[in-house]
Amino acid sequence: MKEAARQARAENHLIGLVPTMGALHEGHLSLVRRAKQECSRVYASIFVNPKQFGPNEDFTKYPRAFESDSEKFAALEVDGLFAPPLEEIYPPGFSTYVDVEGISERLEGKSRPGHFRGVATIVLKLFEITQPDFAYFGRKDAQQVAVINKMVRDLNLSVQIVVCPIVREADGLALSSRNAYLSGEERRAAATLHRSLEAARAELKRGTRDSLQLQEVMRGAFEKESLAKLDYAELVAADSFEPVSHIFRASYVLVAARFGKTRLLDNMLVEPVGEGSEELLFHL
Ligand code: AMP
Repeated sequence: MKEAARQARAENHLIGLVPTMGALHEGHLSLVRRAKQECSRVYASIFVNPKQFGPNEDFTKYPRAFESDSEKFAALEVDGLFAPPLEEIYPPGFSTYVDVEGISERLEGKSRPGHFRGVATIVLKLFEITQPDFAYFGRKDAQQVAVINKMVRDLNLSVQIVVCPIVREADGLALSSRNAYLSGEERRAAATLHRSLEAARAELKRGTRDSLQLQEVMRGAFEKESLAKLDYAELVAADSFEPVSHIFRASYVLVAARFGKTRLLDNMLVEPVGEGSEELLFHL
């Protein structure tokens, strides 16, 4: 992979990287399509990264579908698929990690200690191996994007991070490889994530800017659904991921919940239409 990337750079190609853990769906493929528009060489990776899973999480049962994944990437004319074996990425004695302090400890980081350390470490390794000009990530994992952006700034990396919109099912559920774990009933209940964001949007449109009030409205959406167990509903500044008491600047409305054993995330980006404007734009 390193040799191919080195050659592509020598030939002045613009390299785009799409990192994934496989079990591909339209969300992943939307990243590839965007990369194909902007880059002359597109590499995708499939690596289920054990370092970003907690000891009681789903690493061993995480869905794996290498054959159909590689067909999907081939159909989109990906120039290279990097799917290294575990021991090549983490050989015995591996002991170097990237810790993006602060932001990694909140929200997802609090619910999943060590998760972002694992993410930052593998993403830096993938950047080093594939030497991308652009790397494509989904806004579904908004805090992951914020952690990676911080790492890119703090470590003077040369890659530019491109954030792509969330691809959803007809009822609003964000596509996720983990949706495959849901029973029929849980799948129906999982639409609560999106409904809670819609409820926050309606409240913001009514003029509410107070975070506590907005959180209350989001919690309300979960109270009606016995199969859903809310983990958090939070409002944070889009750049720093620090909690905000009011929505005046670009902010994320974030929600995480459990449906049986499956933990899912969703979010909405809210930003003023223009500088100092009262009117808001919603990216759901
Ligand atoms: P994963 O395989 O879950 O690690 O995801 C790989 C990339 O796809 C990450 O950048 C995710 O944010 C992105 N992604 C996952 N689901 C979606 C979705 N529904 N819409 C857009 N991007 C997504």
